[in-house]
Amino acid sequence: METTHYEFQAEVRQLLDILSHSLYTHRDVYIRELISNAADALDKVRFKSVKGEKIADADLDFEIRIDLNQDAKTFSISDTGIGMTKQELIDNIGTIARSGTSEFVKQLKADEKNVSLIGRFGVGFYSVFMAGERVEVTTKAADPKEPSWIWTSDGTGTFDIAEGPQGCKRGTTVKVHLREDAQEYAQKWKVQSIIEKYSNFVPFPIKLDGEQVNKVTAIWREPKSKITKEQYNEFYKFIAHQSDDALTWMHFSADAPIQFHSLIFVPRTNMEFFGIESPDEGINLFVRRVLIDAHDKEILPNYLRFVRGVLESDDLPLNISRETLQDNPYMIKIKNTVVGKFLAHLQDLSRKEPEIFKEFWKNHGRIFKEGYNDFANKEKIAPLFHFNSSRATSKDELISLDTYVDRMHTDQQEIYYLSGPDRKSVENNPALEIFKAKDVEVLYCYDPIDEFALPGLFNYREKKIISADQVDLSKLEKIPNKENDDKKGKKPTKKDEKELEKLARRIKDILGARVEDVKLSDRLVNSPAVLVSQSMSSQMAKIMHIYTPEMAQKPKVMEINKTHPLILDLLAIYKKDAKDRILDTAALNLFNSAALMDGTVMDPQAMAANIQAIISTALSLYTQAAQATAEEKPEDN
Ligand code: ADP
Repeated sequence: METTHYEFQAEVRQLLDILSHSLYTHRDVYIRELISNAADALDKVRFKSVKGEKIADADLDFEIRIDLNQDAKTFSISDTGIGMTKQELIDNIGTIARSGTSEFVKQLKADEKNVSLIGRFGVGFYSVFMAGERVEVTTKAADPKEPSWIWTSDGTGTFDIAEGPQGCKRGTTVKVHLREDAQEYAQKWKVQSIIEKYSNFVPFPIKLDGEQVNKVTAIWREPKSKITKEQYNEFYKFIAHQSDDALTWMHFSADAPIQFHSLIFVPRTNMEFFGIESPDEGINLFVRRVLIDAHDKEILPNYLRFVRGVLESDDLPLNISRETLQDNPYMIKIKNTVVGKFLAHLQDLSRKEPEIFKEFWKNHGRIFKEGYNDFANKEKIAPLFHFNSSRATSKDELISLDTYVDRMHTDQQEIYYLSGPDRKSVENNPALEIFKAKDVEVLYCYDPIDEFALPGLFNYREKKIISADQVDLSKLEKIPNKENDDKKGKKPTKKDEKELEKLARRIKDILGARVEDVKLSDRLVNSPAVLVSQSMSSQMAKIMHIYTPEMAQKPKVMEINKTHPLILDLLAIYKKDAKDRILDTAALNLFNSAALMDGTVMDPQAMAANIQAIISTALSLYTQAAQATAEEKPEDN
């Protein structure tokens, strides 16, 4: 018999190395992973058969068998599923073709407790080497023409593939030769308790040493009143490969006009690894008890991709292909109903269980906000958006748009937000000063998506949503300043105002094309200057610059603070000598510091040179002054 020798892919070798040395407490999961692979294989072959494709050994029951042998020290699991061809063996259990694998392996290395993640990452098979010192996979693909194969490995660097036995029936058997320290997996009570814990909801009979041990119930088809919280959570853990309970769930069935059942869970944690979409994303779609798609991504919109769950309808045709599913008119109706119901569920949660909603928002809000462009559901989505705000006392305090509008100033016409990487940088943004002075609340946004989501909503309860750094100041005119606003400096006289206008023009001459214009500001309280743009918020400009760096940034208007001591000093110098060279250095520095606050410094080299120029002027003034005092002293004597 011919045997071919293969090397595992490097990432697989690393993964195997971690698994074979991992903590014993997590070892049980390998049984869950093998059972779930067997169930997947059965789902696939059943789908093939309902589509009318020819399958080998069509008379076999769809089932999973587990056989233990204490003397031989083996654990075997067999299924009558789809099996694997030789090439599939090499591709599926020899390599991992998935982006993010190296990072995943690194993370596993750093945190062994994360071994339970391997199922979610889609590399569950390899966990068998936590318990096995040698593993034999005998498999025969469902295609009647395919022969059978035996794959063997001791889980170190290599595996072998040889021809399988004659007369081998469709399906796969994984025979695990248990390690000396893993003999418990040849004991029935142990294996049974693991199946009860993790695999009770597998939709095929699991026979342990000939005896069926699971219940095979489709709980989503049962009436809600019959199912306990524990059952829901048990089912959730099974379909989502999770060890925690779900955060919340929605169980909804409809009879007319279309019959369907849906059971949708919100996980406690964000499942996207390193920003890469999780491979087990999507909904289990059943038609008349047959799993059509284990990871359907069409039923729910992308912004709900964090949920896990099941949808089943008896009104859809069984032989429907995944591709035509999305255009099926029944499917479209089901989809709209489920999304609407689920959004209503979240709305309910926000009202009745604010603590749970808060956790939902913390973990999934960023993805959910992508829903801003689901215009059909805008009325349901926008009220769920939550943000930190200028009235909050910490970054964790969140408010809804409704709360914002409810407590708006009577003369306030618009909703304001301001973006930045964190609370501190938003608070220090000079654009906020006028809002603080007038005590107008501003939503604080820390996610890049907010820059699309908020303006993307356009308005809320008929109030326009505007970035605070783009506000048209006339809109705030009617709102008086806070009483005792002692921070505001004295108003300049009419004459000074004229001179200030001239100074602004002089500064514009110095700055040239760096700015669109220089104007006297009504919005500043503490800062000497700020850059503003009517066309785009500065956060959005930064995002655009990342995506299209070749596009030149549009110059902004620099506004200067009429009452700030620095500006008044400049004015004094200007009045004495409008051509004084120090005005040039000072104006450039003023612009640079405003650009720095704005986060849009374009030419750091020139900026550094300018800072050095002003330091050197200051130092020489200091030396002159020191010399002058030294010279004065002898005269005193
Ligand atoms: P996942 O199941 O998440 O894809 P695994 O590492 O557990 O990741 O399995 C890798 C692949 O090997 C599976 O996707 C499947 O194609 C194949 N496979 C594993 N076990 C079986 C089985 N019992 N029958 C058929 N194919 C299997």
